[in-house]
Amino acid sequence: MLSIQNLHAGIEDKSIIKGIDLTINPGEVHAIMGPNGSGKSTLGYVLSGRDGYEVTEGSATLNGEDLLDMDIEERAVAGFFLAFQYPVEIPGVSNMVFMKEAVNAARDAKKQAPYTAGEFLKLAKEACKQVQLPLDFLKRGVNEGFSGGEKKRNEIMQMILLQPTICFLDETDSGLDIDALQTVANGVNSQRDANRSFVVVTHYQRLLDFIEPDFVHILADGKIVQSGDASLALKVEKEGYGFLGINYKEED
Ligand code: ADP
Ligand code: MG
Ligand code: MG
Repeated sequence: MLSIQNLHAGIEDKSIIKGIDLTINPGEVHAIMGPNGSGKSTLGYVLSGRDGYEVTEGSATLNGEDLLDMDIEERAVAGFFLAFQYPVEIPGVSNMVFMKEAVNAARDAKKQAPYTAGEFLKLAKEACKQVQLPLDFLKRGVNEGFSGGEKKRNEIMQMILLQPTICFLDETDSGLDIDALQTVANGVNSQRDANRSFVVVTHYQRLLDFIEPDFVHILADGKIVQSGDASLALKVEKEGYGFLGINYKEED
């Protein structure tokens, strides 16, 4: 479904992604780990089409279509979801109105009838309960005054409502206490099915106790330096990145 070949990308003149090959089949969960600054977030931004990132070599296709050729809305419609895509606060625009627009835009592009206000309210309430956010979050301004954990829960709610085919979840565990982590993981697990895949960027094995990955990849200096199964994450937890010969330096 998602096929990345020899991808090189960067920002301005700086090369960040330096030759990534990755195939993600329907239903698979891939975890990406790696030292700070290795290019994990950049990979998500490049795939989602964020402004300013330039692909210099290689390709990425989603279900055979050239993902890199699509604009950001087309990628969303094609089923690519990047959590953190909407991290901004939009005071005055309610979470619910914002999400209804996004979901209906995607439906419109697929020639599906838009949800009515009533239909969407029902779906949104269910999603809100699922991520254990109080229902008044639907009425609040987008991310306005949300805590870190509430933003993460909100992202998972967006994912549940948008029903993407591939979800790229960046730093899924940063700033989450154990309850929020469990809720986020439950949200992801509830959306796992044979047709939907996930890329989960994480620093900690802890998250992978809850979201069991099919594959784990270590990214270092813009390249995947090792791939394996879930046991690779356990090894990283125990030994750090030293065994890969990576000179790991804490940056942020
Ligand atoms: P990770 O998510 O693995 O921590 P990033 O993708 O955020 O890594 O960053 C990879 C490298 O690219 C880092 O060296 C970072 O400083 C650099 N980088 C990221 N964004 C920019 C930018 N907007 N301008 C210049 N350098 C950037
Ligand atoms: Mg970083
Ligand atoms: Mg990052």
